Amino acid sequence: MSDRYQLFANSPAGRLLTRNLGLPAPLVLDRFDASKPLVNGAVLLGAAPNAELIAPIAKVLKNIHADVYAGHSASIHQIAASDAGLSLRSFSSDDRIFKFKAFVFDATGIKNSEQLVEVYNFFHPIARQLVNCGRVVILGRTPESCTDPKQATAQRALEGFTRSVGKEFKKACTAQLIYVAPNAEDQIESSLRFFLSAQSAYVSGQVVRVSASETQVNIDWSKPLAGKTALVTGASRGIGEAIAEVLARDGAHVICLDIPAQEADLQRVAGALGGSVLALDITAADAPQQITDYCKAKGGLDIIVHNAGVTRDKTLANMTPQQWGLVMNINLSSEERINDALFANNVINANGRVICVSSISGIAGNLGQSNYGMSKAGVIGMVQSMAPILKAQGITINAVAPGFIETQMTAAIPFAIREAGRRMNSMSQGGQPVDVAEAIAWYASPASAGVNGNVVRVCGQSLIGA
Ligand code: NAD
Repeated sequence: MSDRYQLFANSPAGRLLTRNLGLPAPLVLDRFDASKPLVNGAVLLGAAPNAELIAPIAKVLKNIHADVYAGHSASIHQIAASDAGLSLRSFSSDDRIFKFKAFVFDATGIKNSEQLVEVYNFFHPIARQLVNCGRVVILGRTPESCTDPKQATAQRALEGFTRSVGKEFKKACTAQLIYVAPNAEDQIESSLRFFLSAQSAYVSGQVVRVSASETQVNIDWSKPLAGKTALVTGASRGIGEAIAEVLARDGAHVICLDIPAQEADLQRVAGALGGSVLALDITAADAPQQITDYCKAKGGLDIIVHNAGVTRDKTLANMTPQQWGLVMNINLSSEERINDALFANNVINANGRVICVSSISGIAGNLGQSNYGMSKAGVIGMVQSMAPILKAQGITINAVAPGFIETQMTAAIPFAIREAGRRMNSMSQGGQPVDVAEAIAWYASPASAGVNGNVVRVCGQSLIGA
């Protein structure tokens, strides 16, 4: 689906007009390109005193061949970084010209609210030195894991800072906060890679919790899903098609599922990826058994993506029981029935992934979407309640909550509401299906064993429910 305003705003005449009239100027977002470095520019690394994650962060930055600079307290970082084999280049904060692609700040050493000034000290001098589509990643300690209330308070405060700079830095820059639990230091790589890369183009203002895991993997980062089997529901078009494509790009064999009426499109999508086709309605009484039998015959599933979903928008007073029931059944109850069957029959393999597609409507609610908002909030409930249960089996469950994504679903929205949904976010544009797919691929990675029970919005930091 095309955004004509964005095309115009990026033309020479459009740039002039939008600047003079103060109109939104949606930049063309950097997106994944295998021929480019993961971080296409310099990284500035900073930390509060007594930071606990410099060495694991440095290890990741070394693995991705980043060009890393350090300013404030550089000598302290240098020791920890050199232990990880990373050499830091020095940067003077008096240099107001040099531009960075990413700022990474380790805030784990902050123990009370007075020490939060360290965040100001690092970011204030360089706040104008991030390039277009730049990245801010702050790492903190999971507040729930802090035994001292003062430390928990200060760590929790980082959320407000992160979400604010996500809105303030503009130029399609993103800002995220990764809370790292004690003993989860070895689990940060997949998340740091995702949030520093172009793959998180439309994700901003998010808070992710990384927990400890015994799972250690050695993967080929260019094909992280090699040898894995994934099932994607609703894969014949839109977001589901993009998810199937990205998981296949990352090396997975993808089973593409959709309703029988969509079988021609399903064949086209699966055919292009070397995937398989499973045409069935997920609400059918025998769907859980059919999916179980089919996937068992394929050697089990490593990844299931519950993407199929529908809307039937009406105000509650005008909503029929059919509109209510259809949405609840497709978007939530059928997912529960399928999960129950897959777990009862041990279809999900070790280090498996259950990934759900919620919506910001499930977080903020929406006029005319009491059925849809309820079903998508239920998806979040399912993720949060099942995460501790599945963790014990070495399986993770997470959700994405897309905002306005350019698909047939959003193309059907009346013009004025569509324009509002599209522009009212930090990127001034809708996301692409691939943006949702990239977040799902991050969850799906075998290296994301510590990412469990998270709900990450893919919404360009939409003001709706922000
Ligand atoms: P879409 O309508 O383009 O695709 C949905 C797919 O699900 C279709 O191919 C459809 O045939 C399939 N499907 C529907 N009912 C099914 C059933 N009973 N059995 C099997 N397959 C079924 O929608 P989309 O925009 O690609 O949305 C994909 C997911 O993302 C949905 O869960 C949706 O709620 C969610 N989402 C979308 C947006 C957005 O802006 N597009 C925003 C938030 C959440």
